[in-house]
Amino acid sequence: MTQPNQQPTDWATRPGRHIVSLSGGKDSTALALYLRDTIPQLEYVFCDTHKELPETYDYLKRLEAYLQRPIVYLNPNRGFDHWLSLYNGMLPSAQVRWCTRKLKIEPFEAYVGHDPVWMYIGIRAEEERKAYISTKPNITAVYPFKEHGLVLSDIERLLAESGLGLPDYYEWRTRSGCYFCFFQRTGEWIGLKERHPEFYEQAKAYERDNGSENYHWRDTESLSELEQPERMEQARIAHQQRLEDEQRRRPGRTLIELQAAALDAEHDDVGCSICHL
Ligand code: SF4
Repeated sequence: MTQPNQQPTDWATRPGRHIVSLSGGKDSTALALYLRDTIPQLEYVFCDTHKELPETYDYLKRLEAYLQRPIVYLNPNRGFDHWLSLYNGMLPSAQVRWCTRKLKIEPFEAYVGHDPVWMYIGIRAEEERKAYISTKPNITAVYPFKEHGLVLSDIERLLAESGLGLPDYYEWRTRSGCYFCFFQRTGEWIGLKERHPEFYEQAKAYERDNGSENYHWRDTESLSELEQPERMEQARIAHQQRLEDEQRRRPGRTLIELQAAALDAEHDDVGCSICHL
């Protein structure tokens, strides 16, 4: 694989364990590819919520085959439903994000233990967002893409050269993570309803609306309300309008690029910096 931007590093010689935490998204996958030959002892870890899209699990399997190294799946027995019952059915939200702590941060910290660890993070050179950095003193974050100046086009090149490409869900959703993630934009919920109606139903089944307990994935409406034909049609038209606006604004982009731009035009928060890498 060509790595034109790669600079010499001493990463592999640093004492301690070297770990990349995969999310099933493009950036952490590209990082695993980028580091594979540079750090032969690299450990690959995936904090499994048990609620990922099938496309994500498939993508991870393909990555594992390419790397020829095992990916360690954390949380083998305690997925999202386990923690939801301990939180008495209270759905996580952007304000009360127990899911990230219980399903991502704590399992990773338990896996690491007290060993000195270099944790590699796939934030790109052009990105402003901050990643989760463990407060554990034995964990040191490393940002190879930032150190070497790799931007989105480099990530796409790495993925294309490996034959992995982008995860299939990129046709309708730009972020990895649970199929019901509350960070999803309306356009992504519509995509879930169209591509995986069974998962939309399952996401709906988590919602509660019985007077004393009102838990919804979205702040503005329940999934039952969103799926009403008139509302769906209105949301589809709005998404199509954003796609056309983006096409006019900057023609020549691929459909996937347009989808991402249209979703960002709807709401451009960065989502979860742990789950969506
Ligand atoms: S993807 Fe969303 S719902 Fe799932 S653990 Fe991350 S923040 Fe929570």
